[in-house]
Amino acid sequence: MKLHEYQSKRIFAEYGVPIPKGEVATSAVEARDIARKLGGPVVIKSQVLVGGRGKAGGVKLAKDPDEAEAVADQILGMDIKGLTVEKVLVDQAADIKEEIYLGIVIDRARQMPVIIASAEGGVEIEEVAKTNPDAIKRLPVDPQVGLMDFHARNLAFDLGLGRAYVGQFMKILKGLYAAFINTDASLAEINPLVVVEGEKLLAVDGKILLDDNALYRHPDLAEMRDVQEETDSEREARLAGLSFVKLDGEIGCMVNGAGLAMATMDIVKYYGGEPANFLDIGGGAKSDKVATALRIILRDPKVKAVLFNIFGGITRCDEVAKGILEALEQVDTNIPMVARLVGTNEEEGREILAAANFPSAASLGEAAQRAVELAKGA
Ligand code: GDP
Ligand code: MN
Repeated sequence: MKLHEYQSKRIFAEYGVPIPKGEVATSAVEARDIARKLGGPVVIKSQVLVGGRGKAGGVKLAKDPDEAEAVADQILGMDIKGLTVEKVLVDQAADIKEEIYLGIVIDRARQMPVIIASAEGGVEIEEVAKTNPDAIKRLPVDPQVGLMDFHARNLAFDLGLGRAYVGQFMKILKGLYAAFINTDASLAEINPLVVVEGEKLLAVDGKILLDDNALYRHPDLAEMRDVQEETDSEREARLAGLSFVKLDGEIGCMVNGAGLAMATMDIVKYYGGEPANFLDIGGGAKSDKVATALRIILRDPKVKAVLFNIFGGITRCDEVAKGILEALEQVDTNIPMVARLVGTNEEEGREILAAANFPSAASLGEAAQRAVELAKGA
């Protein structure tokens, strides 16, 4: 689950990270009031759960309350990467001298958190990684031992920070690390951490990704979910217990098992198609779940074909076959489909589909090729 910038920064602040003063507004008039209260120039920042808002025109400076109102009016309702801006954060503007990147993620290969930092902050870190990889510092942290002072100090020196900043940087990094650990985050990021007048460091942007599997331990954080930010499909999938990620391709994929779903996407690409989604219906899925999943897939107008890839274990292929047919009774569509059923009760499953003239394929390779052909209108 993603948290908004304002939510992330407030959490960081609880851990001693300095952030600008600011408040959230849902209307231009409210933004004006906040700007008046803050006094001086402000920055109006769209609160949408995507990166690169600055580049998309969703972060703008305003010199006074009048301008704050005008700018907020412009940004509210704006479309940024498919999301409508419903809220803006009105922050006291920072007079930025330098921008630093500071983030923590889980390094799966090392099986520990790794701190990532760069003196070239502000832009997306993926860009820096491409254009100037040496500018990125990595510091793995053994979670048993935790983040030690000397780690943080060395990193400050590695970044070339002057003496005035080292103590502040250590405090910020230790705060960020504590926030990362205590919220069970998979990412905690400040980009940019900026140098401002008076030799001070300030976190002007913040981002936290929470591990959904640990959310049950954090009811307070779970409550921060912004349902306005979820698409209909994401909400429906979450409520039905389906793992669903929308992608940009034309082949809808319905698969049981996350690893199998990944393999299915790979093989679709291998045969020249593009998957429209990642979708794991999970083990033992019955027909209503299959129907929900199918509805979600077909809601995407880009979908030109649907590939079912089911490995029968706990899930019985005949159950899924019935599920597919029942789903098709509930969902009116002429999108072509193909199924590959293997495992428990595969014969029965294929017979059920054959009796209904629903095409099945003998292997995953064949099914993927067929789906690619169908999507191309063959
Ligand atoms: P993002 O584009 O979604 O990452 O949003 P950010 O909050 O990081 O803002 C993008 C860029 O806008 C930053 O890298 C800064 O260069 C600039 N920016 C953000 N806040 C301020 C501010 O208070 N003052 C100034 N001068 N620039 C800001
Ligand atoms: Mn940023």
